[in-house]
Amino acid sequence: MKHQPGPMVAEKAVPAPPDVAFPAGSGPLANYDQIRTLLIQTGLPPEPSVYDVLWRYVRDEDPELSLAIDKAIAGEGLTLGVVMGLRETLLGQMSEAQVNQLIAEAHGQAEALTKRIESGQTDLADYGRAIANGGEQLAGPMDATALAGLLEQLSSATSTVQAANGRLLKELEQAAAESRALADRLTQAERAAVTDALTGVLNRRGLMAAVEKAQADAAAAGAPLAVAVVDIDHFKRFNDRFGHAMGDDVLRFVARHLADRLEQDGGLVGRLGGEEFVGVMPGTSVQAAAGRIDRVRADLAGQVLRSAVDGSSMGRISFSAGVAEHRDGQGPDQLIERADGALYTAKRLGRDRVVPDRG
Ligand code: GH3
Ligand code: MG
Ligand code: MG
Repeated sequence: MKHQPGPMVAEKAVPAPPDVAFPAGSGPLANYDQIRTLLIQTGLPPEPSVYDVLWRYVRDEDPELSLAIDKAIAGEGLTLGVVMGLRETLLGQMSEAQVNQLIAEAHGQAEALTKRIESGQTDLADYGRAIANGGEQLAGPMDATALAGLLEQLSSATSTVQAANGRLLKELEQAAAESRALADRLTQAERAAVTDALTGVLNRRGLMAAVEKAQADAAAAGAPLAVAVVDIDHFKRFNDRFGHAMGDDVLRFVARHLADRLEQDGGLVGRLGGEEFVGVMPGTSVQAAAGRIDRVRADLAGQVLRSAVDGSSMGRISFSAGVAEHRDGQGPDQLIERADGALYTAKRLGRDRVVPDRG
């Protein structure tokens, strides 16, 4: 049953929260508190899609998103339209309404096509009857006038069915073109939903799905699989020194650098968030993967970045990485967590290095 808005609404009874102090400053509970405050201030509906955007905002997971939201708050206000627009443009996620609209269009087209084909069949059936009828008449005695009349009838039935077929053919061509356009839009939407808008590599959602699939493939083939969590060193400093836009360029550059090298050998790259990437390397043991990522690291560290505007040097950038190998029974989160643990060690040991997980 649909809930009607009215003076009274029934809500699921929720036990009063225990009197806990929010951990000051950070942590999911503090984030929740910030989101709650934002929802109250803006009057946005506390729906999952809105919560999702605000969650990323308060955790500053996507600087581009944070910047856009700050602007909206300072300017025209953070409305539902703004939030949904950001969801689509920055996070590549279509609203349920947009997906439903595409599905409705596809249904509409299929229905119209079915009707048209049915009416085409009626035209053909009429034609078939006209011919059969003519055949019966020919079997009996006929004079020249009757024969001429019959031929006239058959010729007119033929013209009718030819015209109907011509129309049907045109309509079928048009329907096929529309279906192709719709399929393209769906493919685009699907691709956008798993692509990181800034760098063009897989986004977090696409990455997690890819790791899960790689794990299933590895288990089925009895082959090894390794992942590397790659984190740019001192990226905050780079941003502070050269600006956020240049920082974005570096993210695109590093994403390409990783993808060009790992995809060659059937690997994949995704952006976990911020300045962290994950390389997925099927068929590779942890030792081999660490060696491969180390070559990618050395390649990057050996390059000097220059501003495309004035050619001035921005120095070198490096990354640290942790590598872990898939173990049966573990999911994507556990595998990435183990690689992340090794990354932490790489940072602690002084950065610009690759550390394999030994757990
Ligand atoms: P560490 O070597 O320990 O990894 O230091 P770090 O400075 O790289 O790490 P930290 O986590 O302190 O800072 C990460 C910075 O990355 C902070 C944040 O502003 C920046 N960042 C995250 N996402 C983006 C982005 O999309 N664009 C830009 N330009 N900067 C980003
Ligand atoms: Mg980081
Ligand atoms: Mg970093």
